[in-house]
Amino acid sequence: MPKSTRMTKQKQLILDILHSTKSHPTADWVYEQARKAIPDISLGTVYRNLNVLKENNEIMELNYGSTFSRFDGNPENHYHFVCEKCGRVDDVDIPFQDEVNRLVTKIYGGEVAYHRMEFYGTCTDCQKDNSHSGGGH
Ligand code: ZN
Ligand code: MN
Repeated sequence: MPKSTRMTKQKQLILDILHSTKSHPTADWVYEQARKAIPDISLGTVYRNLNVLKENNEIMELNYGSTFSRFDGNPENHYHFVCEKCGRVDDVDIPFQDEVNRLVTKIYGGEVAYHRMEFYGTCTDCQKDNSHSGGGH
């Protein structure tokens, strides 16, 4: 079936795009990149494939309240730093905090499946900009 072959090719392209960046892009950005390889790809197709990849646990969707969802080619649970000034989302390469799950199990009971933790503040680039405008260094 040509149609499923095509879907697979599109899905692979979208996965490759997500693996090629550490910027945790929006669906719109993925769409712009995908069009360079497949000019007639639609935004709907990109969304559909992002959902399939997410359901297969090949990628992660990061929801930040009212702002656009961002997508992460790394499906393993890890932490992110969100810059409140420029909006960039970076990986935080600290070890996964398993003990938090154990603590919650101890205090709350029940069974913890996973946890999410986000860090908010000023990224290193925005911090540099601040110190420059303040005449620092
Ligand atoms: Zn920033
Ligand atoms: Mn990430």
